[in-house]
Amino acid sequence: MDFNSYIRDIKDFPKEGIVFKDITPLLKDPSALNKAVNALYELVGNQKINKVVGMESRGFFFAPILATKLNAGFVPVRKSGKLPYRTISEVYTLEYGEDILEVHEDAIAPGERVLIHDDVLATGGTAQAVCKLVEKMGGEIVQFNFLIELDFLNGKDQIRGYEVKSLLHY
Ligand code: 5GP
Repeated sequence: MDFNSYIRDIKDFPKEGIVFKDITPLLKDPSALNKAVNALYELVGNQKINKVVGMESRGFFFAPILATKLNAGFVPVRKSGKLPYRTISEVYTLEYGEDILEVHEDAIAPGERVLIHDDVLATGGTAQAVCKLVEKMGGEIVQFNFLIELDFLNGKDQIRGYEVKSLLHY
């Protein structure tokens, strides 16, 4: 399936100069959604996964679905102050600003095999912060898995040495 036709470019969102990849046309189409889920799942191959980590907020669309397909648990990484239990945190820079990401300190057990999923890899700041959070807990990162990779922003450089798989490249 050509997923490209389900991704919409929004100019100057959320800030002037940014061309935002809007994935909601893909999410609302039953066939495209189903095929995208299966294609993301196939990127993982036969690798054993214990936890799928998804980043707030657009990482939450696919990460729990991938987790059920992989017989894994789902772990949300959220912006500062949103998680109710004790957290560990990382400051990060993204394409348009700076923020803090948090995860529950008991979300991943040492040695667990982790898939990190987000909708878009842009500058890689978010992915790098999540990488640090997972490794602080002793998790083993098996793969970074994205719907879209914005190749021209070289986000991969922030997570060098890890397996990075993306369904679509721009
Ligand atoms: P990064 O930290 O790699 O610069 O930015 C990635 C994060 O910002 C992801 O969590 C992603 O949801 C969001 N993001 C950045 N650019 C875009 C975009 O063009 N489209 C969408 N849907 N999300 C984006």
